Amino acid sequence: MSVPSPIGEGTPAHALVDLAAIRHNVGVLSAHAGGAETLVAVKADGYGHGLVESGRAALEGGASRLGTAVLAEAFALREAGVTAPLLTWIIPPGAPIARAIELDVELSAAAPWLVDEIAGAARAVGRTARVHLKVDTGMSRGGATPAEWAELVDRALAVQAEGAVEIVGLWSHLACADMPGHPSIEVQLGAFHEALGIAEKMGAAGSHVIRHLANSAAILTLPEARYDMVRAGVAAYGLSPIPQLGTFGLVPAMTLVATVALSKRVPQGTEVSYGHHYVTDRETTLGLVPLGYADGVLRHAGGQVEVLAAGRRHRIAGRVCMDQFVIDVGDAALAAGDEVILFGSGRDGEPTAQEWADTLGTITHEIVTRIGSRVPRVYR
Ligand SMILES: *Cc1c(COP(=O)(O)O)cnc(C)c1O
Repeated sequence: MSVPSPIGEGTPAHALVDLAAIRHNVGVLSAHAGGAETLVAVKADGYGHGLVESGRAALEGGASRLGTAVLAEAFALREAGVTAPLLTWIIPPGAPIARAIELDVELSAAAPWLVDEIAGAARAVGRTARVHLKVDTGMSRGGATPAEWAELVDRALAVQAEGAVEIVGLWSHLACADMPGHPSIEVQLGAFHEALGIAEKMGAAGSHVIRHLANSAAILTLPEARYDMVRAGVAAYGLSPIPQLGTFGLVPAMTLVATVALSKRVPQGTEVSYGHHYVTDRETTLGLVPLGYADGVLRHAGGQVEVLAAGRRHRIAGRVCMDQFVIDVGDAALAAGDEVILFGSGRDGEPTAQEWADTLGTITHEIVTRIGSRVPRVYR
């Protein structure tokens, strides 16, 4: 089964997404979550794996909720018929909140003005908005500061009293969960505990209110951060949130595949790609791989990362271009039409997204989310 891409038929590469792997990974994470609910983050097109398909697989694998960064993502899930509870956490002024309330999308709020906007939209559509209040426990990204927290809770309680809003969640996010033992983790846990205590005293932490803090790294290493729900992201797609601690039994879901567009025999001393940064050291065969930086193969991957072609690994020869790059396969038999695997689960000897991330000095999140819209996602 394949999904239509903006380009459709005729694309010489695709990202093969193993939905069974996503289901498996969510099962692993849910087991770690103990009795807590599991929300899977499907932001950024399901970390590049496809928003709707990843979301459905996550729900089949045991997630009870899905999370998105922006409302457009939540709306797309609803339009596709996904009925599971959804939470969206980046709501700037003027966001289409009324539509979110009509579509039963739960909203994060970290400032009194946003609580007011949500309440106003709720009155306008005649429904109660479900809100998760977010406290900044030390990441200094989203969330109300501890100094602002009581005022935020107070404002939410006021509009809850008139029925415009229901406080259904209290939450925060960890900055360094991928560094087990980092001193900030204890500090953030303490600050979260304190914020929950304040909300409880004010009457905003009823038994139906879910508290949540843990991302993938915390799910796998920090049982005390589980609370009532965990929020899994990268691990659901099979990528380890803490690579130095291993794979945790996760299976990478994405395999990036291209079809060789051209192969040719060239003499020793042949200069390859823009800038001529690669020169063949013998007579050899070059293969043209039709994926480039516009597709998420980072430009500085040239000369750095390896791909699997003709049964062996070959480093990208010279610069990555917008739409293509070259590999030098020596005397291996490589013909136009052959398959090249850029990264995958590693099962067949191909590199993994983890290897690409390590080589390129980034994290796997960036490798998979950058795969462009020109590359169709194909599901199995
Ligand atoms: C992306 C995100 C997650 C998931 O993070 P991972 O590190 O990928 O598990 C959880 N919570 C929030 C608020 C996020 O933005």
